Amino acid sequence: VPTASEFAVYSGVSKDTPVYAIRQAAIIGAGTMGGGISMALANAGIPVRLKDSSQAALDRGIAGIRKNYEISVKRGRITAEVMEQRIAMIRPQLGYDGFGDADIIIEAVFESMDLKKQIFAEIDKIAKPECVLATNTSTLDIDEIAGATGRPQMVIGLHFFSPAHVMRLLEIVRGKATSAQVVATVLALAKTLRKVGVLVGNGYGFVGNRMMFPYMREAQLLVEEGATPAQVDGALTEWGMAMGIFAVDDMGGLDLGARCFADIRAMQGAGPRMPVMLDRLVAMGRLGQKTGAGWYRYDETRKPIPDAEVEALIEQTAREIGVTRRTITREEIIERCLYSMINEGAKILEEGRAARASDIDTIYMTGYGFPAYRGGPMWF
Ligand code: NAD
Repeated sequence: VPTASEFAVYSGVSKDTPVYAIRQAAIIGAGTMGGGISMALANAGIPVRLKDSSQAALDRGIAGIRKNYEISVKRGRITAEVMEQRIAMIRPQLGYDGFGDADIIIEAVFESMDLKKQIFAEIDKIAKPECVLATNTSTLDIDEIAGATGRPQMVIGLHFFSPAHVMRLLEIVRGKATSAQVVATVLALAKTLRKVGVLVGNGYGFVGNRMMFPYMREAQLLVEEGATPAQVDGALTEWGMAMGIFAVDDMGGLDLGARCFADIRAMQGAGPRMPVMLDRLVAMGRLGQKTGAGWYRYDETRKPIPDAEVEALIEQTAREIGVTRRTITREEIIERCLYSMINEGAKILEEGRAARASDIDTIYMTGYGFPAYRGGPMWF
């Protein structure tokens, strides 16, 4: 277990820390996140080179960006002329041309360590010395990614949230070698992008997602022990969460959640009991909204519809694992889900991976739909 001082996230950073000017950006990966991040930069007047590995992926990316801007035009937020100006600031390309002039390069390819290391080794060869090298990974080790370059002091995590042109939170992940100047630069960039930048330390899931895992685990155990997904989600939304955890899981994709749980199981070894329903749903091809069914089923309205098939599977699963189902109260749902999340937050503070409790609360209120009137998980 690292000591707090090893993770003093603000170490060396002060109001007077110099910053690198960010005038040009380059992004690798024109998918959901790369597209949204390009829009956030273009909206702040920073021109972007957007690279992907195939013309089809680039075309899809640019079409997505256009579609999002068209929504803003339709809602009267920007004019059609401004839309065209912003799209013109995003230059799609297949190669690395112009990357040598970029002040920041943001990687947003698939969540694969091998792929990210390969990309960072490539950009290490072409980026100018003072270029900030950022990754949008949601969980992976920033230090390992930085190790693929000869300049780990320039590498930092910029964890944008989806949709990246809308969501205010920017979780900024400092690796063990990240320089104070790079930290100060991206804190300033967050302001330029009109986002709320919160600095955190490196570690599986960083702060936001790491606290989600025990919360998800407890919710799934409650379901195996006697609740239904709709009952848990109902208790959480009535308490004030913007969405129930099972609806969130369906939105993000059950395969992603299951992969994270597998990683956690591997890291914990003989740790606490893990729920089993998630893997069963994934094995059935119920991956959430994207397959029309997950914890709930979906029609074209995308509203979660409780599914008798899932409820039957839950009962069968409980029998198989020897759990006697019982009545679960709202109070038990709230306490078990939220206290497990809060407890993880306390561990994060103890490890120094967040500078203060209010930083965690800010992350939860701006990125995770935690009700502001509850003050955030740590305040609560
Ligand atoms: P995505 O699948 O929508 O997009 C990935 C893009 O990367 C694709 O267009 C793909 O063609 C491209 N790509 C793959 N290999 C490439 C290469 N060698 N060179 C250039 N481009 C390449 O994925 P996404 O949802 O945008 O996620 C991207 C990253 O952001 C992941 O690390 C993910 O964990 C992280 N993230 C995702 C979310 C989210 O909600 N989707 C939120 C935060 C962070």
